[in-house]
Amino acid sequence: MLCYIGGSESDGHFSLINEACSMFAHTNPLHLDVFKSVARFEAEVVAMTAALLGSKEKSSGGQICGNMTSGGTESILLAVKSSRDYMKSKKGITRPEMIIPESGHSAYDKAAQYFNIKLWRAPVNKNFQADAKAIRRHINKNTILIVGSAPGFPHGVIDPIEELGHLASSFGICFHVDLCLGGFVLPFARELGYHIPPFDFSVKGVSSISVDVHKYGLAPKGTSVVLYRNHEIRKHQFVAVTEWSGGLYVSPTIAGSRPGSLIAGAWAAMMSLGKEGYLKNTKAIMEGSRRIQKGIEEIAELFIVGKPDMTIVAFGSAVLDIFEVNDVMSSKGWHLNALQRPNSIHICVTLQHVPIVEDFLNDLKESVKTVKANPGPISGGLAPIYGAAGKMPDRGMVQELLVDYMDGTC
Ligand SMILES: *Cc1c(COP(=O)(O)O)cnc(C)c1O
Repeated sequence: MLCYIGGSESDGHFSLINEACSMFAHTNPLHLDVFKSVARFEAEVVAMTAALLGSKEKSSGGQICGNMTSGGTESILLAVKSSRDYMKSKKGITRPEMIIPESGHSAYDKAAQYFNIKLWRAPVNKNFQADAKAIRRHINKNTILIVGSAPGFPHGVIDPIEELGHLASSFGICFHVDLCLGGFVLPFARELGYHIPPFDFSVKGVSSISVDVHKYGLAPKGTSVVLYRNHEIRKHQFVAVTEWSGGLYVSPTIAGSRPGSLIAGAWAAMMSLGKEGYLKNTKAIMEGSRRIQKGIEEIAELFIVGKPDMTIVAFGSAVLDIFEVNDVMSSKGWHLNALQRPNSIHICVTLQHVPIVEDFLNDLKESVKTVKANPGPISGGLAPIYGAAGKMPDRGMVQELLVDYMDGTC
């Protein structure tokens, strides 16, 4: 379970959010005229998030707008859909293509599959950042969108957003910045004095941003924000039906009826934490991440993948099967993410980890020792699946497995 809340204050935070959610459990912002306070909560969550991400800067043009969604994936789906339709109206593109770095989230694959867009994955550079030159190679007259992440999910590395913004501007195409993980950390980390390269609407060429309130925003699960540079792009997100016997129907996001409770919960989370709360949390997780990074660097058998910019630390091994190390860590109660190219695992550091950084490092040292002394799969471990000749299992087989798994649980 990846839970972003932790520490002695989490009980109060949980109960405040639960209370806000339950008060609004039966509201539905589809009916804006009825549930006016929920509509206001959404507008304020969007405005507060936009203010964090450059809407107040002159260079932003003063039109930044957006909506709340059910999560990073929906924010990304909507940004891709809006970019597709915006580019169709602007350039007449009818066979859309988009380009993402290899490290871009799989939500872009989902968007490409749902919205019939050709997806190119461009290799990353030796620092595991998006490579603008590699992306440039795929740009053609059908390109609608390029993507950069700040940071990317696999290795927690920030892509060169300014360079990508420049590329997008020069070709007149859309540029989405994936701030799903970073949106509620980077602005505060910068204020705390960490070196953080530009990542938001202050960068020319950025047309949309996704940012998850339900990750480091510490809001309830099912909350994210999608932002656009202006109304001209966002208007393509909305579906308006005027011919229905059910009357005029206008819906801004993918769901029709939406849970007002989650919007109220996100608003409560942001209002109660405030800038001070996020600064304090960011300080704790940034320091925790640096300690974890340093601790891993001191384990001779391991190497860090790339240079972590934030609170995700990915690591692999040239001498051990890292997935066997992961299995031993799992048996000790740690849930780390398995990555490929190169085979590695990552920890996404949250407030829960801050008080137990030393335990993590001690368990990691021990796990490395265990695998070194007894290499080979452990019973119930996943190393054979992930590690088999460095090759992931067949796609169709995974779909079948998921059917079995999900049906077996009900
Ligand atoms: C989590 C994440 C997503 C997807 O968000 P969900 O909330 O899981 O749908 C997309 N991009 C990045 C960088 C993420 O960390």
